[in-house]
Amino acid sequence: MAEIKIVKATTLKEKPDVSKIGFGTHFTDHMFVMDYDKENGWHDARIVPHDKISIDPANATLHYGQAIFEGMKAYRQGNKAVIFRATDHLNRLNHSAKILDIPEIPFDVAHEGLLKLIDLDKDWIPTEKGQSLYIRPFVFATDEVLGVSVSKKYKFMIILSPVAAYYAHGFAPVKILVEDKYVRAVRGGLGAAKTPANYAASLHAGLVAHDIGFDQVLWLDGVDRKYIEEVGSMNILFKINGEIVSPSPQIQNSILDGITRRTVNQIAKSWGMNVVERRISIDEIIASQEDGRLEEVFGSGTAAVISPVGVLRYKDIDYTVGNGKIGEFAQKMYDYIEGLHIGEVKDTFGFIEVAGEY
Ligand SMILES: *Cc1c(COP(=O)(O)O)cnc(C)c1O
Repeated sequence: MAEIKIVKATTLKEKPDVSKIGFGTHFTDHMFVMDYDKENGWHDARIVPHDKISIDPANATLHYGQAIFEGMKAYRQGNKAVIFRATDHLNRLNHSAKILDIPEIPFDVAHEGLLKLIDLDKDWIPTEKGQSLYIRPFVFATDEVLGVSVSKKYKFMIILSPVAAYYAHGFAPVKILVEDKYVRAVRGGLGAAKTPANYAASLHAGLVAHDIGFDQVLWLDGVDRKYIEEVGSMNILFKINGEIVSPSPQIQNSILDGITRRTVNQIAKSWGMNVVERRISIDEIIASQEDGRLEEVFGSGTAAVISPVGVLRYKDIDYTVGNGKIGEFAQKMYDYIEGLHIGEVKDTFGFIEVAGEY
């Protein structure tokens, strides 16, 4: 096992009032860093004070975007600092690495570095319900050449940010515009990787939707504009006639294989429900809405956990899902996952990893 060097901050920052800081605005005292080059492979794993880094204006990521990231969360459970599904998130980082030709991160070093970093900054994990410590691992190219090629050097970092409860004004349904003009990703592209390029591709459509009063867009596939992919930067799930149905990342290959979606499906199965992953067309959703089989629609992702959909607009027609209120299943699932996070629900799935004790 590689040695992880630790350089502690000499002065610690003042902790903010987490209820007032929204998402990703404040950072903890330390960060994890590791470098890659051809001669040494991944090396020099270290935890150092969170600080600015210096990069050359010719940095390859700035110009060509070869980068990947993850997002996961740490919570307090009594006297323990815990991380939700850390192993799954680190494995997905390496899945994204493969898609972008980034050299695989040694799992054990990343995992140990993550646990040590959380342990060191565990006083930053907020205590109020709904709040958490957001964990952002990321890898980016550090070549300093303008020629277009796969980079020979990379940096892997993990930074931490305390975040306020996502639903500051209560768990609430959102209005969604079904997007049939812009596309986020296409089959054969980068849709299955957690990479900044997919976000760059999605920002404009989100802005246009916001301007006409929608919270997010529902992405359709880039070829036929027919099959359902994701909602904003979340996965989407439907409750149709008692079944939990979601698009299959394996079949579609342009969807991010969300870990919250996996969590929802595993829990729903444990409740004895039918869980189906398959292609779903927007026409099927509209038809099942019209004949009353569509019971619930909701997004899933680490940031919001569950995001119930109240209204869907497709081709200028607004459809009110259920009665426009939070569905019974979405509410029950949200409460259950929140319970797993903070230890009120016993973890029979092996989702929780302990990083430290107070
Ligand atoms: C991160 C992300 C998700 C949600 O994944 P989780 O693992 O549930 O947080 C969904 N779609 C996209 C495009 C994402 O980047």
